[in-house]
Amino acid sequence: MNAVEITSHYIRQASEIIGLGDRVERLLLSVEAEHHVTVPIELDNGDVAVFQGFRIQHNSARGPMKGGLRFHPSVDADDVRALASLMTWKTAVVNIPYGGAKGGITCDPMILSLGEFERLTRKFIQRIALEIGPQRDIPAPDVNTNAQVMAWIMDEYSRLYGYTPAVVTGKPLDLQGSEGREAATGRGVVHVAEQALRDGGRSLQDATVAVQGFGNVGSYAALLAHQQGARIVAVSDASGALACANGLDIPGLFADYAVPRRPLADYQADGITQLAQEELLTADVDILIPAALGEVLTEELAKDLRARMVIEAANAPTTPTADAVLAERGIPVFPDILANAGGVTVSYFEWAQNIQCFRWSEQEVNQRLEQVMQDSYRTVRTVVEQRKLSWRMAAYVVALGRVAKATVLRGV
Ligand code: NAD
Repeated sequence: MNAVEITSHYIRQASEIIGLGDRVERLLLSVEAEHHVTVPIELDNGDVAVFQGFRIQHNSARGPMKGGLRFHPSVDADDVRALASLMTWKTAVVNIPYGGAKGGITCDPMILSLGEFERLTRKFIQRIALEIGPQRDIPAPDVNTNAQVMAWIMDEYSRLYGYTPAVVTGKPLDLQGSEGREAATGRGVVHVAEQALRDGGRSLQDATVAVQGFGNVGSYAALLAHQQGARIVAVSDASGALACANGLDIPGLFADYAVPRRPLADYQADGITQLAQEELLTADVDILIPAALGEVLTEELAKDLRARMVIEAANAPTTPTADAVLAERGIPVFPDILANAGGVTVSYFEWAQNIQCFRWSEQEVNQRLEQVMQDSYRTVRTVVEQRKLSWRMAAYVVALGRVAKATVLRGV
């Protein structure tokens, strides 16, 4: 199955469970608009390079569309289409007034200079400027894009249409970004972990955790879980994986490796072992947090998985066949559309602050985020219990129900 077939598979299953019917199901499976653009830039050496860019808008029944921008060599239309659909379900699970979209550029940011990166971002925004906007579609950070990239987007759009901070979220604080946005996705993941452990009569205190990916989401999830007393015994990035049975020095790794984006493979300290990437995923831990790319938990790997639960910080890290194996083995998987929704929730807070020209304190943002994550977790848990479904299917049932209602009320 390709990425779109995977999301469609879950949508059809949830649709059947709630008896949605063909008419509405067809609407929810289709994409509203696809923008495929070429993005030419001048390289530092004077050459011209032409990149492929996408903005795919899945559904706007519940509000303006929302979703990140990914700069990565593996980005293609199919990938972006599936991620756009995930955003529709994610915004519905946490009940914020948005639809879903996603964007990306097929490129390798590691070989672009900062100037080339900026020119690429600005040219892409020129190409899709008519299709985005605060009431239409609002981009945000994703893999290899950060607050600086969001600042360039805001500036480029504002040059065309006047000062418009609400066109993009995840901006720097000095440019109307929100307190708490950078940590929000990782913080939301930790809220889900806390509640899942509490349901089993435990807490994060002394729970063992392995985190794949030490970028924005993974490093904050590790740091915040560590602050709550969890023992982070393994972390990895694209360069390698580190382990320490007594717990890694997460504040040190965060400050010296995650923030300056240094490769973890360079890290050396007493008691540290280097792991193969797969070994991290099959580590004997209470919680496995995949926080890198999609489809890393395969069927084969699921058979060997030793974690007691999986919390999907990344988008679509578990293949459907792996999902089935984990369900059979009784290992709960807290799905992306619930577990990593903290980022889009605080993006919504940022947009709301921008539109009102008002600022909330970090404490206020974090409190509201905690409330949204707790409410969403409880809503999904009720469906898990009442309908005897997996967490993923229950989250889809909640989301599909909300989007379908909005679709029917608005009319075709
Ligand atoms: P990022 O670019 O900041 O970090 C990605 C991390 O994954 C890096 O540490 C990278 O080295 C690592 N990585 C890449 N390939 C790897 C591999 N094969 N093995 C181990 N590590 C590998 O990206 P991010 O914003 O942290 O996003 C991570 C995931 O979370 C993505 O799936 C993204 O879609 C999802 N997500 C992000 C947000 C957000 O707010 N940034 C919100 C929701 C979901």
